Amino acid sequence: MYADIILPLALPKRTYTYSIPESVASLLQPGVRVEVQFGRSKLYSGLVERVHNETPDYVVKPILSVLDEVTVVTPQQFRLWDWMSDYYCCTLGEVMSAALPGHLKLTSETRLVYNSVYGDNFSELDSDEYLIAEALQIQKEITVEDARKILNKKTVFPVVQRLLNKGVLFLREDLQEKFKPRKVSALRLAEPFRTQPDLLREVFTELSGKERQVEILMAFLALEKRQPFVRKQDVLTKADVSESSLNTVVKKGILEKYDREVSRISGYEDELVEADELSKQQVQAIDEIRNLVGFKNLPVLAAEKNVVLLYGVTGSGKTRVYVELMREVMKRGGQVLYLLPEIALTTQIINRLQKVFGNEVAVYHSKINTQERVEIWKSAAAGKPIILAARSGLFLPFQNLQLVIVDEEHDASFKQYDPAPRYHARDTAIFLANLYGAKTLLGTATPSLETWHNAQTGKFGLVEMPERFGGLELPAMETIDLREQLKNRQMQSIFSTPLLENLQKALDNGEQAILFQNRRGYAPMLECEVCGWNAMCRYCDVSLTYHKHTDRLRCHYCGYVQEPAKTCPACGSGKITFKGFGTEKIEDELKIFLPNARIGRMDLDTAGTKSNLTALLNDFEERRLDILVGTQMVTKGLDFDNVALVGVLGADALTKFPDFRAGERAFQLLTQVAGRAGRKNKRGNVLIQAFDPKHPVVQEVLNGDFLGFVERELKERKEFKYPPYYRLIHLELRHKEPKVVNEAAAFYAKILRQKLGDRVLGPVIPNIARIRSYFGQNIMLKLEKSALVLSGAKVLIRHTTEIMLGRPGLSQVQVAVDVDPV
Ligand code: ADP
Ligand code: ZN
Ligand code: ZN
Repeated sequence: MYADIILPLALPKRTYTYSIPESVASLLQPGVRVEVQFGRSKLYSGLVERVHNETPDYVVKPILSVLDEVTVVTPQQFRLWDWMSDYYCCTLGEVMSAALPGHLKLTSETRLVYNSVYGDNFSELDSDEYLIAEALQIQKEITVEDARKILNKKTVFPVVQRLLNKGVLFLREDLQEKFKPRKVSALRLAEPFRTQPDLLREVFTELSGKERQVEILMAFLALEKRQPFVRKQDVLTKADVSESSLNTVVKKGILEKYDREVSRISGYEDELVEADELSKQQVQAIDEIRNLVGFKNLPVLAAEKNVVLLYGVTGSGKTRVYVELMREVMKRGGQVLYLLPEIALTTQIINRLQKVFGNEVAVYHSKINTQERVEIWKSAAAGKPIILAARSGLFLPFQNLQLVIVDEEHDASFKQYDPAPRYHARDTAIFLANLYGAKTLLGTATPSLETWHNAQTGKFGLVEMPERFGGLELPAMETIDLREQLKNRQMQSIFSTPLLENLQKALDNGEQAILFQNRRGYAPMLECEVCGWNAMCRYCDVSLTYHKHTDRLRCHYCGYVQEPAKTCPACGSGKITFKGFGTEKIEDELKIFLPNARIGRMDLDTAGTKSNLTALLNDFEERRLDILVGTQMVTKGLDFDNVALVGVLGADALTKFPDFRAGERAFQLLTQVAGRAGRKNKRGNVLIQAFDPKHPVVQEVLNGDFLGFVERELKERKEFKYPPYYRLIHLELRHKEPKVVNEAAAFYAKILRQKLGDRVLGPVIPNIARIRSYFGQNIMLKLEKSALVLSGAKVLIRHTTEIMLGRPGLSQVQVAVDVDPV
């Protein structure tokens, strides 16, 4: 008997065949992992795809051991992987590597770390386990290969797997930062009232006539009855009062503020609350969605649409619509996968769902630890009703998936770029849903052009929510002409006068503001004023960004760091200046003009880790910060209720970016960031600084003219053969020698052209010719939308890559294929 095994590698063949020794034959079935040797000595855990008795015409190695008693991968998962490897032009092994969580992947090089929590009671371990545990206790960290040497055996994965299951060790790559507990501002009764609530009666007498203060106290008492602790924010909302009214009650010694730690992921502790009553618009949207996908019929009958776009303006209350549909699916015993861009998976949305669904919600993204990962993997297979996840949630083993929600469907971070598989989570979600006969709901305030086009042509259903919840108006938007501001000497550093004035006004009113600049660091360039030299990365063709906090220049592509030069290395002059500005400079300079403002910054440098990000958002939500300065991180799906002003420092960088998607991105980013403005019952303001305020995209954002924008943009896309009318496949070749990569790309393009003609563009040198010491050459395919052309092109690509790599001197050229690049 033989088994076809998927290996976690970028190998040309789909699967590799191994023989099945008698001893393991009874354990073997598709979907279990096995330990095999590949190459001269490396061990891998591979996955059995097929068991058969077709003798191969070459010598095969035997399977060394079987790692699982039950299958870890379902037939649907196999089909998804197959589709991905085919559609996105990558190997099955690459898809498997992305799909399986770390604890299911072992190789000789996997690093094992001793779990000190386990202690040194080894009495439960057998002799092999004991030997490894002992070595780990002394050395703290060893590789699987070390473990194999210690045991002096051919097979070692089963022992490692058992130790992993028993919690004696964990895998190095699964080591995650520990979650810091989250703090929320809470309220409690001050003494003596806390211990002697009877005394409160006198307080009420004392407060008679002071309506606001009575309301605060009443709100507090009502909440206290229902909840284990009372959030300050809940009291403010319930009593509908300002922080300053509350402060009076605190000053009088009736209530006191304190910080309370709340746990985050492990189980939901608070009481469940009924979901808010639906607005008319929400009722209607839900009804329309149900009709379109056939949710009305139980069981689901052949429905009209498999995919529906929910196009609702920012603040229209899309989340509440999702909640209702989730509830419906849950009642039927089905599962919902709710996908969000990683960054939007903050405690905010998690809390909103947990409040309604409690522990029926599981959260899955890259920052959770191994144990949680294992747990969610298992619970998905057991039918967990709601899974809130980043794009990797697509790879879970669902039992009865009925609905996939892709929120913020336009978000480019749904596309994985590196490493392969270079897949789009939205498009993959639609395929996944079809596998299960489930429906897909795409939600956004700024649909991608692909999705909009699909809705227009009737491929997707379309449901709209044109109004903000509660009838709140969309923010008032204005542009500020930077050229005029400069001419009239109204600029103070990078801030126009109206922007500073409005910031001050917000501060005076106790309101908050968000400032957006899509560039981190202090300044993107260090330049010599005399000769024009500027500091470039040693390994990439990009200028280095100055970071003031660390006083270092840093490459945002490869991470290379160096000290800033004090004199010009080219001409010796001392006139070296910073050009441009990033979020760090905004924060820095803002302190000069608004010395009393409490300013926070949200970008990769300050919010690189999940716990920092959460702390930052928490501080802003709890109003411990007045102004939040940030990159596009601040645009993503956050809901704040005290933001009076949103400022965009420079819109030109967005609109002038050299890419066919620049207009679409700019429209989305500007509309999304503007959508953060507006407080309860009060219209927000948005100020957009630009040198070219008349740019069509800026104007369309200003007028909320999505239809005008798509009409203009789609016309251009059609004319220049871009998506959604044509399909793009982007090929990038890389090598350390420019000569080699040039030759490879010319050869590659020539072969493609023989069959595809002028559908092939390039090769061209990319905007950044060299990254990490590798020189690039790009080839672009523009393909008409025909399944035949597409599959033909993909076969040709695989074939051409093989031929090219087989040429003398070109075998080391790297080829990255990106289907549907974003
Ligand atoms: P979107 O995701 O469409 O931008 P949200 O779902 O964040 O909008 O809703 C915007 C605001 O309106 C939130 O503060 C939310 O709590 C509130 N909201 C939405 N629907 C309701 C409802 N039915 N009852 C009360 N508040 C609601
Ligand atoms: Zn110089
Ligand atoms: Zn670099």
